[in-house]
Amino acid sequence: MPDHARAITSLPQYAELADGGEGHGFNAICPSHPRTLPLLKEIIAEVAELFPSRYFHAGMDEVNVGDCPRCRRRSRGRPRWWLYAQHLKAIHQAVAAAGKEMIVWADHVEHDPAMLKSLPRDLILAHWQYRAIRPEPIRRSLRAGFRVIGCPALCHSGDMIMPNRANFENMDAMAATLRRGARGGKVLGLVNTWWAPWRGLRDAYLPAAAYTAAMVRQAGPVRRGLHSWPACAGNSSASVAPPAG
Ligand SMILES: [Zn+2]
Repeated sequence: MPDHARAITSLPQYAELADGGEGHGFNAICPSHPRTLPLLKEIIAEVAELFPSRYFHAGMDEVNVGDCPRCRRRSRGRPRWWLYAQHLKAIHQAVAAAGKEMIVWADHVEHDPAMLKSLPRDLILAHWQYRAIRPEPIRRSLRAGFRVIGCPALCHSGDMIMPNRANFENMDAMAATLRRGARGGKVLGLVNTWWAPWRGLRDAYLPAAAYTAAMVRQAGPVRRGLHSWPACAGNSSASVAPPAG
């Protein structure tokens, strides 16, 4: 929220809340429309009640807002990240009111790190990096005092059929990056993502899911051959400490 909001804005009663480019780019719900925040607060309260977890993942990835006349008027003269940060803080208040700690995807803070200084420090940043790992944005979030989760992928948009060598290297590199940053106690752990499972054979991913479990539980190299197809075999050079908490 406000990203990937077509499930809401495709309903006739909420169509006027649509923002972002239709047919290209990413869709969103307009953060500046007066009906948006009350609706999102209602959804957050309802979802928070259903799940016992202390955490609430609010999404907020791949947001494309700012072009509608209402948003343009509101953010005139502000940096491009301002609107996103304002909306994030409003959602954070709603999540806190529901008694949860908020997680968001970190692609927007990776892209516009200037906004980090304006965000609440109890926010948890989930850095999703599905190809080569870029440690610096993760380190920057840690230096700024945020807790982080690292999110590699069993597969992502370009992958088909089964996990490949690049997916395993991505998982290993993320685990190694998290382990190096874990000393300050702000690394909550690793969440592996299974991206677009309809592009692969479901059961072909299960050994890689087991590999993830071995990788995050064991503080030493994992024998990849036990968990993968021959093309991905080899020993992992990475390991990660068990997640705190
Ligand atoms: Zn708007």
